[in-house]
Amino acid sequence: MFYWLHPGYLNVSRSQQNRTPMTLSPHATDVVLMVPVIDVNWLVYAPFDPGRDFRVDPPNVPQSIGDTREVLRILREFTGGKCILTPHSGTYCRTGYYEGEMLDVYCEAVQGGGELAVHLHEEIKGKGTRYTERDHVGAVFEDCRRRLLAAGIKPVAYRGGHYAYTPFMNELLPSADIHIDLSCSPGLNQPTREAIWVQSPCTGYYLPDNPRLAADGQNISSVFEIPIGCDGEGSAYRNILHIEQSEIDNLQRILAVLVGRAKRDGRRQIVHCLFHTGSVGRLEWVERFRRFLGHVPENGGTFVTATEAKAAYDAEVKDIAA
Ligand SMILES: [Zn+2]
Repeated sequence: MFYWLHPGYLNVSRSQQNRTPMTLSPHATDVVLMVPVIDVNWLVYAPFDPGRDFRVDPPNVPQSIGDTREVLRILREFTGGKCILTPHSGTYCRTGYYEGEMLDVYCEAVQGGGELAVHLHEEIKGKGTRYTERDHVGAVFEDCRRRLLAAGIKPVAYRGGHYAYTPFMNELLPSADIHIDLSCSPGLNQPTREAIWVQSPCTGYYLPDNPRLAADGQNISSVFEIPIGCDGEGSAYRNILHIEQSEIDNLQRILAVLVGRAKRDGRRQIVHCLFHTGSVGRLEWVERFRRFLGHVPENGGTFVTATEAKAAYDAEVKDIAA
């Protein structure tokens, strides 16, 4: 899929886009730029899962504070602290992760090289979501953003729960000076969750006005999308870099696909991987996370922040246009 040649794909002219993209050296060691996304959450949250009776237990925030600090220690060891934390704010926990000592933990993350995103979870268990309610989404988003700002943290990105993203977010985010989104799982089609990514490329790109439709002929927004890393074969757990829901061999396989794609297409792949603070109590998941983080830099990947990922893309587009 030669999407980067697509006229609507970049904010440059057709002739610029048809130039040969930057060619990566076959020995390049950083052909995959990977943003570690850390979802600040708790374990039993299953608003869409009839198998778990749509169970949504209340979070234990003090536990999450310790868990988040533990994940930050791991990140310091493996990524130099680079990450983006996406604290849950939603129907069943509106401000628990946006107040008190948790904000101190985020300040520690930022001091260590990390970043913050606003992360909404507007689900109604067993029913659906509120993502299409623009006034509601605008209000809860703004409340989260202000709470982070009041703690001295400027959120740099947004991420929707269960990969939700409605087209009006393309206006809402820039109006709050946020120009990065992390909601995308390429190929996913969950209309009842407002998670429709059937036209999405598998590497970082600027969202068209309607991200659910092909970019052809559309205006391109100022929101840079960093999708979850995937093998391009689907949007099931086995296809994506969701650490807990995979196995180490499969995660390594997906990274190899990303590296192969980068070299084939002559373009860096810009993606994120996903881990949750609620998983800290599960030793096999933490161990898998550590092994994956150790594997990436040895095998063609480089950990970056979301801001660095966007800057790298923008610089590459400038190169192509030059
Ligand atoms: Zn979440």
